[in-house]
Amino acid sequence: MKEPHTVRRLGDLARAIAYRQALIRHECWPRARLEELQQRRLADLLNWVTQKSPFYREFCRAHRLGPPYSLPDFPILDKKTYMKHFDEIVTDPRLRLSELQEHTAHVSGDEYYLGKYRVLTTAGSSGQKTVMVFNRKEWSIQEAASMRIAGMMGVVPFSLRRPTIVTIGSPSPLHDSYRLPLSMNVGLYRYYVLPATAPVEELVQQLNSIQPHVLRGFPSMLGLLVTEQLQGRLNINPCIIAGGGEPLTSELRKQLQAAWPKSSVFDIYGTQEGLRAMECNPSQGLHIFEDLGIVEVVDENNRPVPDGTLGHKILFTSLFGFTQPVIRYEISDMVVLASEPCPCGQPFRRILAINGRNDDVLYLKGRAGRQVAVHPVHFWNVLESFADIRQYQVVHEPDGICLRLMLEEGNGHVARNVREQMARKLRALGVERPSIRVELVTALEDRSRHMGKWKNIISNVNQSSQ
Ligand SMILES: [Zn+2]
Repeated sequence: MKEPHTVRRLGDLARAIAYRQALIRHECWPRARLEELQQRRLADLLNWVTQKSPFYREFCRAHRLGPPYSLPDFPILDKKTYMKHFDEIVTDPRLRLSELQEHTAHVSGDEYYLGKYRVLTTAGSSGQKTVMVFNRKEWSIQEAASMRIAGMMGVVPFSLRRPTIVTIGSPSPLHDSYRLPLSMNVGLYRYYVLPATAPVEELVQQLNSIQPHVLRGFPSMLGLLVTEQLQGRLNINPCIIAGGGEPLTSELRKQLQAAWPKSSVFDIYGTQEGLRAMECNPSQGLHIFEDLGIVEVVDENNRPVPDGTLGHKILFTSLFGFTQPVIRYEISDMVVLASEPCPCGQPFRRILAINGRNDDVLYLKGRAGRQVAVHPVHFWNVLESFADIRQYQVVHEPDGICLRLMLEEGNGHVARNVREQMARKLRALGVERPSIRVELVTALEDRSRHMGKWKNIISNVNQSSQ
């Protein structure tokens, strides 16, 4: 006899399959129809929160706002403020942050909280931990979005041969890269989640025995696997390789194609709050699933930036999160949106580039005592121009910049060139006498990993943008 929980999970998945059909239909809509849907869902959301969320009810009362509501009138919330007001923001008064945190300490699988909620957490690079709660319907939409992404890569449910999908990600059910496959594991696909924190040799061994059709992981991890495959220890032939959670550089894309010439490589972008974007074709940018959310790209002062211009952050509004509303929520990724529609004909706007996170910007001492904000892209540009660099970390220390480089064997001579080029770049940006040290390492394992995720830029210096 099946457990009632299994039956409910099946129900969630059945609903997800229906939602997926609807999502796919939106992909053929004209832009105007998509915007109409967004406005309708936004109106529902804002009406709902002004009734059910004490935080928004009070905000509207204090600011004398009434229907019809308009998104720009709503407050922008950063992670810290959001978590501070968590108990008032949620629309089910039974959800209390302290009790949810207590629950997350004991989650071991796909458990519901209060019989209907799934709870995720994130530990952002800022160190601010957040909690996300989804009711069963909202979770089905998460599942549908995940199936849509799989479908865009050519993996569809109910295909004749059940595809084997391996995600190398966070080994925690509190993270969606593990929890989503877990909740959907009813036999449509063969799912495996391997921990990104495991030693590479162990992952190689497991991958050789599983032989995935689809391989998903953080780009930094995929980069390590390229070496393993090229050196013959790893021997797999995935048809689809998908990177996410970190920028997938064009250099890594080339390396992946060289190691697996027959595979298709995709870049996926997602946040636990429900913002998702995905490439239709390589190098066409990532379609934002705007039927599920509204994205505002803004500068430091929250003014919208035009498409084609680099923003300082994203303000994200989830159009399906009614339990824990996410409205104009700050995401620190710096992105450029395309100003033209995609040639593929989908109505969604595209992220052309993700230039790191604004908390990855390092502030270095410049000439005449001013601070110079050095964007991560400057480090990437220099470091990725060296084919011999396999992996790197940029560490900002009180006495300067330390570049920790993992090189191809026997290429120690590049260190000096790297240092010189980096110094030239920093000087050109206005940094005064940049102090750069290169440390050659054989592994960057287990340093500054967040839920198995790599961090390329680390600051050990108290810094501010003031
Ligand atoms: Zn497209």
